[in-house]
Amino acid sequence: MCLFYEAYLDKKESDNSYHMIKKKEKKADLTKEFIKKVIKKVVYHNQSQKNKRYLSVKGICFWLGCLCSIIFLVYWHQQIYCIKENFHHMAMDCSLAQISAIDKEMKCFPVRKDPKKKEQYDFDNGYGGVRSYGGKRSHEGIDIMASNDRSGYFQIQSATDGVIEQIGWLRLGGYRLGIRSKSGFYYYYAHMRNYAPGIKKGKKVKAGTLLGTMGDTGYGKEGTHGKFAVHLHFGIYRDKKGEECSLNPYDVLLKLK
Ligand SMILES: [Zn+2]
Repeated sequence: MCLFYEAYLDKKESDNSYHMIKKKEKKADLTKEFIKKVIKKVVYHNQSQKNKRYLSVKGICFWLGCLCSIIFLVYWHQQIYCIKENFHHMAMDCSLAQISAIDKEMKCFPVRKDPKKKEQYDFDNGYGGVRSYGGKRSHEGIDIMASNDRSGYFQIQSATDGVIEQIGWLRLGGYRLGIRSKSGFYYYYAHMRNYAPGIKKGKKVKAGTLLGTMGDTGYGKEGTHGKFAVHLHFGIYRDKKGEECSLNPYDVLLKLK
């Protein structure tokens, strides 16, 4: 009897421990599941935070891009407006890109100011006026007049960087000089009295390089002078389908005066 009872107790005990183990295992499983759920939640939360941050960075970039585009468009529009407004004489002859190129490369006025500050130079928009010497023709530049009408008084300087392409006597232009700029425009200086030392064909010049002095040469064979008042005839030419076309430099000279 006693043995049966002991066996019964042992069985119960083993049943109890079996249940305990099962219980523990179940508990461990639940804990594992819980941890998994928590980790999943944390990862998902981090990912969604990351996504949110990514979206917000993307949004900022987008709006910054829009703002920059608007600023650029306003600036560009203003530039065009300024060019059209300030260079309207020239705008009749050439494109906005060409005007911009001339505006950029013409860095100084082609006549230097009187160092004694006594005499002045002046000009008006005489481009396109009628000229009769050598046949009826149109005036292809601007005449910058000397207040004292004295040949050799005012100094002429290059308005741009470039290379001296032509130099010497022309029946109409007298002692003249032509400079080709990097952008391909040809800057023409005429009726000069003389050339500065070292000024010759092929020489590279900078804006502000002394070219010579203002005179009244031209309208005849070499050396002819005094047929008109002392002035610098300044012209700008461009190549248009193989032909040389003049532009009105009045606006850009006015800006640099
Ligand atoms: Zn002229």
